[in-house]
Amino acid sequence: MGTTVAPVNGAMGPREGFSEARPMTGLRERKREMKVKIDGDLCSGCGICEDICPDLFEMLMDCARAKRKLVKREDKEYCREAVESCPNEAILVED
Ligand code: SF4
Repeated sequence: MGTTVAPVNGAMGPREGFSEARPMTGLRERKREMKVKIDGDLCSGCGICEDICPDLFEMLMDCARAKRKLVKREDKEYCREAVESCPNEAILVED
């Protein structure tokens, strides 16, 4: 009996034998992440972002810094409050 193989990109649906539990790698993994960075020219160093989301932001001298450049989309809500609380809109998130 032959086996039908669908395109890797899933245009015809998921490949047989692949499950959502399979670890993602490469491009597919990166698509599930967002870039986060601080605009140092806008940051006033108030520290609100670090207070709200210490896993992601830290203060370095008088400016905030993102501890990680990439944030998983699952954590988007987690850092959204920090982004919205920044008085200077200095936290930049790119999908
Ligand atoms: S909340 Fe905004 S202005 Fe305040 S430290 Fe964080 S990035 Fe800077």
